[in-house]
Amino acid sequence: MFKKILIANRGEIAVRVIRACKEMGVQTVAVYSTADANALHVQLADEAYCIGGPRPQDSYLNEDAILTVAVASGATAIHPGYGFLSENAGFARRCRECGVVFVGPSPEVIERMGDKDAARRCAKEAGVPIVPGCDLLKSAEEAEREAERIGCPVLIKARAGGGGRGIRKVERAQDAGKAFTEAHAEAEAAFGDGECYMEKFVAPAHHVEVQVLADAHGNVVTLGERECSVQRRNQKLLEESPAPCLEGRDDIRERMYEAARNLARAVGYEGAGTIEYLYADDGNFYFMEMNTRLQVEHPVTEFVTDIDLVKWQLRVAAGVEFPYAQDEIMPAKRSHAIECRINAEGPAPDYRPSCGTIHSMHVPNGPWVRFDSSLYPGAVVPPYYDSMLGKLIVRAGTREEAIRKMRSALTELIIDGVDANTELQLDILSNPEFLSGIYHTNLMEHLYED
Ligand code: ADP
Ligand code: ADP
Ligand code: MG
Repeated sequence: MFKKILIANRGEIAVRVIRACKEMGVQTVAVYSTADANALHVQLADEAYCIGGPRPQDSYLNEDAILTVAVASGATAIHPGYGFLSENAGFARRCRECGVVFVGPSPEVIERMGDKDAARRCAKEAGVPIVPGCDLLKSAEEAEREAERIGCPVLIKARAGGGGRGIRKVERAQDAGKAFTEAHAEAEAAFGDGECYMEKFVAPAHHVEVQVLADAHGNVVTLGERECSVQRRNQKLLEESPAPCLEGRDDIRERMYEAARNLARAVGYEGAGTIEYLYADDGNFYFMEMNTRLQVEHPVTEFVTDIDLVKWQLRVAAGVEFPYAQDEIMPAKRSHAIECRINAEGPAPDYRPSCGTIHSMHVPNGPWVRFDSSLYPGAVVPPYYDSMLGKLIVRAGTREEAIRKMRSALTELIIDGVDANTELQLDILSNPEFLSGIYHTNLMEHLYED
């Protein structure tokens, strides 16, 4: 195992990784921006170094500064968390050149899967069903022709997109050209890569994703699935496992798992990763993308499998063999887990991002109630980063009980000083469609219809 690692991230995920390291006897090195001088991850780490100003480009994306700290402090591995450099193949390559282990798959695999268009082709080659669509679009005229062929509605998607960004819906083929030109410019500005492809808009559909873990010894296992259909602007808000839409459909579930393992094997995957699918009620599922990193919603999987994903990421990166066979992993036979993302934002319809200083707070507790966050009284929520304040996760014997437990926990949660979306989460948890267990990615569009 590593003696010392650097955590190239901030917020709740940096705290999550530092805690895992402490339990494993691994020393931790934090890096932080000037806006985060008093942040919890800085206080909890054994060492902490300021690497630049508040803007991500100056600090958490500052590869030179991060690598310099890693080498100078004697850290032998870097955990990138999610977001920031976690899916940056160039950074993973530079780590390798500096003799530092990047906790994640190889730069080659990140590159292949990070290009969503190339990933689609990989999936197809590995026998995983993909959404009907086309490869990279070369012109507005081609976009219109393809939209006509595929059949509207379609989505134009940036191959470099992520975090729900770089996606545009087209309702009529004659609008596809204009949408393509706009999407191209938008993706160029946001990701430095304007290339776009097209997919059929599958609706109504569920977002169901499968957790994969692969070690350096050829073992590839799946750790159950998560349903992430509660989304606003293609961003997840609430996740649960097992997926209620797969209730009684173990045959389909098994096929999804097997396809995920096949794809991971086909690309030589190592580490923790997620295969995202769209699942339609007719029983068909389609590969959407692979995230080559730890997922925000990983605690849901930890709750139903009793496997600590961060510790296994570190062990696998250090060359340890994963000891459990697929049939020894028992996802979700008698348990149900739900996660609510607690975002710093005002109420509907604007959901205005909020920032400020936490005056006081109260966090719910009890068996199988977990709050992953970096908040404490006095903590500052700066305006420069993601608006997620933390994640509330519960586990219970049934979905119904887990929902009641989450409601009770949300009602107890007090965060004084910034706006938080607890009321929105409570509204979702009492929505009849959500309660029925059969809800789709459009749930949020009719949450407040009445
Ligand atoms: P998950 O897929 O784990 O649920 P999200 O899609 O919510 O994760 O993204 C996790 C974090 O990573 C968010 O802060 C999001 O803004 C960021 N992120 C993901 N992909 C990208 C990307 N390509 N560019 C910039 N930020 C990204
Ligand atoms: P990101 O990298 O931003 O996470 P994804 O490809 O995973 O992008 O898509 C984000 C979300 O957009 C999905 O969870 C889903 O709700 C929606 N989406 C993406 N592709 C399609 C599609 N072909 N049909 C319908 N919805 C889609
Ligand atoms: Mg996605």
